[in-house]
Amino acid sequence: MSSATRVRCIATEEAFVIPELNEAMAGVVRAGTAYDPDIYFWQRAAGAKVLAARLLDLHAERLAIMDANGVDMQLLSLVAPGVQMLKGADAAAIARIANDRLAEAIVRHPYRYAGLATVAPQTPEEAARELERAVRQLRLHGVLINSHTDGQYLDEPKYRPILEAAAALKTPIYLHPRAPIPAMAGAYRTYTLEHAIWGFQAETGLHGLRLIVSGLLDRLPDLRIVLGHGGEGLPYWLSRIDTMHRQFQVPERPQLAKRPSEYFRENFVVTTSGMNWGPALRLCIDALGADKVLFAIDYPFQDTAEALAGLNAANLAPAERAAILHRNAERVFGIAVHERAPPRR
Ligand code: MN
Repeated sequence: MSSATRVRCIATEEAFVIPELNEAMAGVVRAGTAYDPDIYFWQRAAGAKVLAARLLDLHAERLAIMDANGVDMQLLSLVAPGVQMLKGADAAAIARIANDRLAEAIVRHPYRYAGLATVAPQTPEEAARELERAVRQLRLHGVLINSHTDGQYLDEPKYRPILEAAAALKTPIYLHPRAPIPAMAGAYRTYTLEHAIWGFQAETGLHGLRLIVSGLLDRLPDLRIVLGHGGEGLPYWLSRIDTMHRQFQVPERPQLAKRPSEYFRENFVVTTSGMNWGPALRLCIDALGADKVLFAIDYPFQDTAEALAGLNAANLAPAERAAILHRNAERVFGIAVHERAPPRR
C-alpha cells in the first residue's frame, strides 16, 4: 500500500498473559473437580505451544507480525478469563501485577501498545481503586472484564463501585467473553459449543442486554461499554429487543427512560474481533453508524492478515475505513492521535 493511502491501524482486542496468571490458573485446574468450560478452554490454550508463547510475548514476534501486516498499535488486555476464576485476594494481586507489567510494555513501546486494565470484580471496592490507579497513574485506556464473575453480572448492585468509577473516569469497560457458567453450559457441552463457536457470544450478549434492561444506564449515563465480535449478536437483534421489550412487559423489568436500542447506540460501541465477514460488518455500520465500529483482531487467537483482509474486502468508503481502523479507537479509548505514522521499528 502506498504511503498516500496508508491509514493508521489500531487493533483493540489483543490478548497477552503473564506467567503469574498462568501459574495461578494451573492451581485452579489442580483444585478443580467438576467440569468447567473456562478451565477447559484455558487448558487448551495453555497446551497449544505457539498460542501460549504468543500470549506471553510482548517484545518479539508480536511486533514482527504487526509490522508485517501494517498494524501500528495493539490495545492490549489480559487474556480471558483473566483473574476472574481466582480467589479474591489472589485475583486482586495478580490484576495489579498485570497492570504494572502492561504499563511497562507500553513505556518500552509507546507507539505500538496501549492497554486496558484488569480488575478483580470479586472485590468491587478494591477493583474500583485499581481501575482509578490504572487509568490515572499507569495511563491505561479503560478496563476489560470477562463477562460474569462466579455467575454474577455487572448490573448487580455489588458491582456498582466499579461501574461508578468507570463512569466518573470517563473510561470504557470492554465487556469481553468468557463461557457460560457451568450450570448453564450443559446444553452446550454435548457438542462443545460453550466457547467461541456460540457460547461466548450468547453469554456476553446476554450480559450486555442485562446492562441495558436493568436501568443501570439511566443512573450512569456516562458509562461506555465496548463489545467485541460485532457486538456479540446484539446489533442484529436490536429491533426485536425493542419490540418485545414494549410488547411483553413484565414486573421484573424496570421501566426505562428510552428504548433498549437507544442505550445500545448511545452507550455501546462494537469491535470487529473475530468477525471478518463483510455482511456482519455492514450490519454493524448500518445499524449503529461507522463511528461505533472499531477494528480488532483478537490476536493471537485470530489471524492478523485475515482480520485485515476481511476489513479490506468490505470496500469501505475512506472516511468509514479511517473511523474503524483508528479514529474511533482514538476517541473511545483516549489514545493519542499521531499526525504522522508512528516510526517503524
Ligand atoms: Mn478476545
